[in-house]
Parts: sequence; structure tokens; C-alpha cells
Amino acid sequence: MSLGESFEYQSLQTLKGVGPAVATKLEKLGLYTIQDMLFHFPLRYEDRTKIVPIGALRAGQQVVIEGVIEHSEVRFSRNGRSRGKNKASSGRSLLCYLSDSTGGIVLRFFYFNASQQANLTRGKRVRCFGEVRHGAGNLEITHPEYQQLVENESLPVKNTLTPVYPRTEGVHQALLRNLAEQVLIGLNEDNVPEWLPEQLLMEKRFPNLSQSLKTVHHPSADISLSSIEAVKHPAQQRLIFEELVAYRLSMIQFRQEVKKYQASAQYIDDESLKAFIKILGFELTVAQKKVIHEIMNDLKQTVPMMRLLQGDVGSGKTVVAACAALAAVHNSSQVAIMAPTEILASQLFDNFNRWFESARNKDVCLLLTGKHKGKIREEKLSAIRTGETCVIVGTHALFQQDVEFKNLSLIIVDEQHRFGVHQRLTLREKGSKNAIAPHQLIMTATPIPRSLAMTAYADLDYSVIDELPVGRKKISTVVLSDQRRSEVIERVAEACRRGGQAYWVCTLVEESEVLQCQAAEETAARLNQDFQDLSIGLVHGRMKQDEKDTVVSKFKAGEINLLVATTVIEVGVDVPNASLMVIENAERLGLSQLHQLRGRVGRGKKQSACVLMYQSPLSERARQRLSIVRENHSGFIIAQKDLEMRGAGEVLGTRQTGVVGMRIADVVRDEFMLDDVKVAAAQIQQQWPERIKPLVKRWMGRVNQYGSV
Ligand code: ADP
Ligand code: MG
Repeated sequence: MSLGESFEYQSLQTLKGVGPAVATKLEKLGLYTIQDMLFHFPLRYEDRTKIVPIGALRAGQQVVIEGVIEHSEVRFSRNGRSRGKNKASSGRSLLCYLSDSTGGIVLRFFYFNASQQANLTRGKRVRCFGEVRHGAGNLEITHPEYQQLVENESLPVKNTLTPVYPRTEGVHQALLRNLAEQVLIGLNEDNVPEWLPEQLLMEKRFPNLSQSLKTVHHPSADISLSSIEAVKHPAQQRLIFEELVAYRLSMIQFRQEVKKYQASAQYIDDESLKAFIKILGFELTVAQKKVIHEIMNDLKQTVPMMRLLQGDVGSGKTVVAACAALAAVHNSSQVAIMAPTEILASQLFDNFNRWFESARNKDVCLLLTGKHKGKIREEKLSAIRTGETCVIVGTHALFQQDVEFKNLSLIIVDEQHRFGVHQRLTLREKGSKNAIAPHQLIMTATPIPRSLAMTAYADLDYSVIDELPVGRKKISTVVLSDQRRSEVIERVAEACRRGGQAYWVCTLVEESEVLQCQAAEETAARLNQDFQDLSIGLVHGRMKQDEKDTVVSKFKAGEINLLVATTVIEVGVDVPNASLMVIENAERLGLSQLHQLRGRVGRGKKQSACVLMYQSPLSERARQRLSIVRENHSGFIIAQKDLEMRGAGEVLGTRQTGVVGMRIADVVRDEFMLDDVKVAAAQIQQQWPERIKPLVKRWMGRVNQYGSV
């Protein structure tokens, strides 16, 4: 390793196995330096410290098993023909029946090559790791990791829990594990600086930083999976505390920054606003009116608006955004609206385009996403630069370097919970020049209670739409075990045959989009095998934009009956005819996320239904959580009840708190720390202001990082 640069800022290229090509891939995860890797925390852990007897397996467990293959065979689906280009629906699967002295299980492969087939034959001894599921009559593991064993050889098991890191395409789990191992070897007390006040570390009995990092990456085998996942270990608590301090310091910094700027006042008269609202074709709710009023008030000022708009799914945030945009257009300035996915962006564009065309009688809207390339992109960029178009809708593509606005006066971010803290903060820099900054409206459906919103978005003012438009029907929700999967499938098929449309949502622990897409592909393949009379579509994040668009527009047009999708990307689509949704592994998702997914149905006139399917057995607590969603239809109440249950120490991740991008902290779960965090942050500000920068850098990483959409 090169001398001269401190350990934590050394490039990852100083590690074994990282050349320029790998380094580029790692950058997609925001990993540049040793410090970035040290603070790239596992999302969860796998227990590979013991081999579980097959007879003791239960669905839902992730386990290491060892056994002998009794029999293996390739099965063809009923039609046996290949349907379409989709590899997953070629209709072939390899089944291996594995047993030990206590029982048997099926290993299922949808994708396999000749050598795998030759390796997995009768009499072979293998060790596998994978997730146990209910199959047709048997327990099974789909696509296990496996390792062939030589007779009488005994392979050691792991002596620490195995970390599962967030990863991205082209970056394998094994690589991340290896890099973590390498940086941990080099880590000691002296080479990662301690920024928290010493007094505080003592009072709280927090372990030191290097020890905490070691524990979090490699929890020793005597720490149980459940206790580490409950995030109560002192090592975890210490890191959470530090992250919250860093977060708070960065918020304070940003607020101070913004205060230095001026904004251009956007004034609109009541008549013009009323005329626009008329075009929408419905009466605004009281809450919508109130919120529009708050926003208009802000926009009139010469200080930049920094407002968070919270409103449940379907509460009508889009029209509020449109009214804000109108104010900008009315003043001949530009507004940028950013959505987290291309599908959502083009949907927003369609709406805005329709409304503004009728209002202004000319083309003022433009859509810019990652799929616009070459000449088309050039033309669009030019229209943005010259100010020819005022309403610019898009994805992250909007905030790339070559996008130059003429006079951007307002930024609207839709579905903020899909963006990280980093992105939000970076946006502010984009439109700011010469001491003038754009106004900002941040919209989210994530219903975090007000007090927490004030902390999580300490730099923002807060508005809420707390009622739904009249006449919405409740979505009847049922909670079912996946043992009744075939029944559910039949019911879905029946509904589709009667002209209905349905979503089938595949979920997976979100360590990787890749795996989630794979699960969706597998499900689509199975459903395709089972229902040749139905048209089944598949959308997930790894498909090409054109393919996604085609599938979604076919679904919108009613040509696809059943849409299999992943949770992260695609479910923002607005298809009023779709009235049924099945969510697999519902117990793994946050309640707010479930509520938001469910909000995709119940948009039309039909009575809609949602099936929350869980992997049995379900813990009592998980059962209670799912019934909260079944019995409640308000995102706020669901969030509140969720919070009450979490008070008791429920295991939960960052994903649902609305602050994506935090590495280990969760403002909801860790609320109890917030008072102390405030004190510590203030202390650092007063006594060690020079620590702020490195602390923020450590936790917030490179602010200029965008995920790829
Ligand atoms: P979200 O807050 O989830 O973004 P949308 O803005 O997409 O919700 O609104 C959901 C649906 O409700 C849209 O079809 C929209 O046109 C409609 N809508 C919005 N406001 C009203 C209203 N005041 N009355 C009736 N329908 C409305
Ligand atoms: Mg919306």
C-alpha cells in the first residue's frame, strides 16, 4: 500500500483483485476507497456456521445442507415448447432429489448447462446453501449454491456469520466479501480516526471504531443471527450513533448553505391558477388546496423554498406538483421534475403534457431520460439550454453534467423515498448559480410521522395531504400462506380469464436487484408453464427500457393479463383496470412498502383485492404486522402502528424509513438516540469543527453519486 496517504483514503485499487476495470464497477456502489469499503455494511447475514439436517428444514430458512443425490431428472413443462425469446420460459427444469439420514429435499434449476447436469447425478455428494421453499408437495431449494464433496472429505464450516452486501451488476458477493476481508486485515485502532467525543464513547460504553467495524462485517459465530439482525449489538449501536451524528451535521451544513442563496420569486394570480385547476377535471380535496396554498406562499418569496410534501399513495400529489410547475411556467422560468424510474417519468410526462397543452396551447413539456441518446438527446438539451421548453420531466438523466438549464426556478422530486439522501442534496447544487438557487419541492408517499420527518428532513419545511379523493373503494386484503399458492394462482387465473388484470409481485431480500429479477423471471416461467391460455408479462429492472415500455404499454392496453414484476422499479404504473395483486413473501417487506405496492390496485371502479402471501411458518409478530396492513387502509395509521410495534425492538431495515442511503441507521427504529445525537453534533460543531468534513465524507460518501436507472 502506498505511503503518504492515510489508510482510509487509499484507493481500493491497492487491494488484491482490483484493477481499473473492477474499480469502475465498484464505483457504481460508491466504493472508491478503503474507507468506503469499511463503511459498506452487510444488509443481512447468512448462517453458514452449521450444517442443518434436511429433516429439520422449514420453508423460509436459509441453510447449509449436505446430502447425497438419490436421483435427478430434467422435466419439461406441459407444452414443452419454447415460448417467445425469454429463456426462462423454455420450459425445462433440472430436478435433483437430495437426502441425508434425516430426510429429503428437491434442488431445482431453471437454468443449467450440460456440465452441471453431469455433475448432479445419482450418488454424488454435495453441500448446498440456499433458501428452502415449498415446492410441489416437497420442500425445495431453487438454484442453490453447491459444492461437490469427495467421499469422506469433511469440509470446514464458516466460523463467523457470512455478510451479504448490497451489490450491483457485475460485482459479485464473493468479490465484496473478499475485499472486506482484505480491508479488515489492514484495519487497526490507529488507522481509522475516531471523531466522536471520547467522553461520549465512555459514557455509552461504545466499543472503539475498528472493533465495531470488525464485528459488523464478521460477527463471530457465537452472536446469533437473530440478535445481530435485531441491530442491538453495541458495535452496531455505535455505528448507528455516528451515522446519525454525521447525517445531522450534514443537514445543518446544507441548511446554512441554502440560506446564503436567493431565489427568484414565482408569483401567480388566483385566476390563472383556478383556470388551470379547471382543466384537471375534478374538485381538489381540502388537503390539496391547503398544500397548494402553502407552496404558492413559499414560491412568492425570494428565499429558496425547501418543502417536503407527504401524501399517501393516491392522495393526488401529482396535481399539486403541476400547480407548482404552473407558477414557474407562468413566470417564464423552467421547472425540472424528477422521477425515480423511466416508467414513472414517462407517466408524469403524459399527465403534465396533457394539462399544460390545454392550459398554454403549446408544447412546453419535454421528457428526458437515460434512453434518449445521440441526436435526440442533443436536441432536447438544446431546448433546455435555450429555454424553449419550460417543463422538463425526467429521471436522474436530468442532473447529469451536460444538462444546462436556462433559468431553472423550481425542482420537483417525485417519490423521494426512491432516491438517496445524497441525490437530494446534490440536486440543490445543480440549479444554483450566482447566489441564486431554485425552489425545491420534495414529494414522498412514505408516511413517517411529523416529528420524525422533522429529524429525517431537518432541512425541509413540511406539508401533508391527509385525505384521499372521495369515492375510493377499500382494497380487500387477505393474508395467506404460500402453502395455498396453487389455490391463489388458480384464483388469479380465473380473474384474468374473466377479463381482469393482475400484478404478481416478486420480492426478495434486497441485497441485489439481480437476484430479485431472477426470482421474477423464475416466477414468470412457472406461471407461463401453468397457464398457456393467459398472456403473462414480465418487467424488471434489468430489462432494456424498450422492452419494459412494450410490456407496460401492453399491460395498460389490456393485452397482458398478468404482470409479474419486482418491487423496486416497476410498480409505479397506473393501470386502473388492474384489480388484483399478489405479493409474495409479504412478510419480508416493510408495512409502508406493502401499503404502497397495494396502492397500485384500487384505482378504478372495480372492487380490488390484494393477497399478502407469506412463507409459513409465520412468527406471531409477523402475523400481527401483516394484519395491520390487512385491517388498515391509511398509510399514516399503518406507519404509526408499525412504529408502535417497532418500539418493542422489531427487526427492521432502513428501506422503509424514507431515508434511503443511510448505511446502518434508521431514524424510526433509532429514534431513541436522536436527543443524544443532537447534543453530540452540537458539541462537535463547537469544539471540533474540523471533524465535520471528514465525518460527513465518511458517511455520506461522494455526494456526486447517482445510481443508474
Ligand atoms: P399520488 O399522490 O400517489 O402521486 P396521484 O397524483 O397519482 O397520486 O393521483 C392518483 C389518482 O387520483 C390520479 O388518477 C389522479 O388523477 C386522481 N386525483 C387526484 N386528485 C384528485 C381529486 N381531488 N379528485 C379525484 N381524483 C383525483
Ligand atoms: Mg405519484
